[in-house]
Amino acid sequence: MRSIVTGGAGFLGSHLCDLLLKNGHYVICIDNLVTGNTRNIDHITSDRFTYLKHDVTKPIYFGDKIDYIFHLASPASPVDYLELPIQTLKVGALGTYNMLGLAKEQGARFLLASTSEVYGDPLVNPQPESYWGNVNPIGPRGVYDEAKRYAEAITMAYHNHHRVDTRIARIFNTYGPRMRAGDGRVVPNFINQALKNEDITVYGDGSQTRSFCYVSDLIEGLYRLMIADFNEPVNIGNPAELSILGFANEIIKITNSSSTIVYRNLPIDDPKIRRPDISRAKELLNWEPKVDLRSGLEKTIQYFRNDFD
Ligand code: NAD
Ligand code: UDP
Repeated sequence: MRSIVTGGAGFLGSHLCDLLLKNGHYVICIDNLVTGNTRNIDHITSDRFTYLKHDVTKPIYFGDKIDYIFHLASPASPVDYLELPIQTLKVGALGTYNMLGLAKEQGARFLLASTSEVYGDPLVNPQPESYWGNVNPIGPRGVYDEAKRYAEAITMAYHNHHRVDTRIARIFNTYGPRMRAGDGRVVPNFINQALKNEDITVYGDGSQTRSFCYVSDLIEGLYRLMIADFNEPVNIGNPAELSILGFANEIIKITNSSSTIVYRNLPIDDPKIRRPDISRAKELLNWEPKVDLRSGLEKTIQYFRNDFD
């Protein structure tokens, strides 16, 4: 099997490259390093692995047969996509269009890394795939949410109109080693603040909730979805929901930190609740997360500790 992973030098993409190589695939990692880093793939020595520095908003062609395209390229952290609004819209629109075109030409199977952000600030909890969402298209997060909603729409159109064999994974908050320390997401922020005994910055009153999935569980879910036979969206995430304030206290406890919590303004349109309904993934993929928050956080904290050594 020959697989392409766009965004393969990023956090999730690099772990996916590892799993595909372990499963015997030839892997072509395509990344323009806008938020990723070759540090995430430097450990790969397999001769079945190729890295191409390329911006997927520009077309690319391959002579050799491609079997699977995992399309993960996109800024993913709110801080990143607020700094890169046009690139985010372009990679969701043009990048997805180019990769679907490649899949069509190659007869390859295509998987889109979509997001729980398609549900916006949800009015139902947990969120099933049948929920259409509550998104502000012109707010600051709209550049990401609408790019992913467009990406889902064009993926379904290529499936229905061109018969491309497509998959849509709606990924919920995922964490683990190789997250960028400065990416601004809550997991690296809180861990790094706690390790340096600095103030922990809770936005708003911390009552907003998230559900955190450990990276190995998420990657296994993506792989199972690709090899399953299902074209509608599937939520992949961990349904264990907790408040951001509760999460801050958990990090302080595990790191044995002397940090104190400080409160900062809540970003505009920050979703108040988020929790996946994973019934579909359980039934179709026989998948559910295995790693609990405590063990996942211990591994992630160890990674960031090593970063400081
Ligand atoms: P990341 O920023 O670590 O990785 C994204 C990668 O895409 C980076 O390596 C970046 O350089 C690359 N990229 C961006 N634009 C590109 C372009 N035009 N051409 C080529 N490469 C480009 O983020 P991540 O957390 O690994 O997210 C990966 C994917 O999963 C994204 O599509 C994101 O929307 C989705 N996702 C992630 C989460 C999460 O919690 N991590 C949640 C929902 C969805
Ligand atoms: N958050 C926070 N402090 C931080 C970073 C984030 O309180 O230093 C909050 C943020 O407002 C949101 C949640 O943590 O409610 C998750 O934020 P993240 O950026 O990780 O991703 P999101 O789920 O919002 O896409």
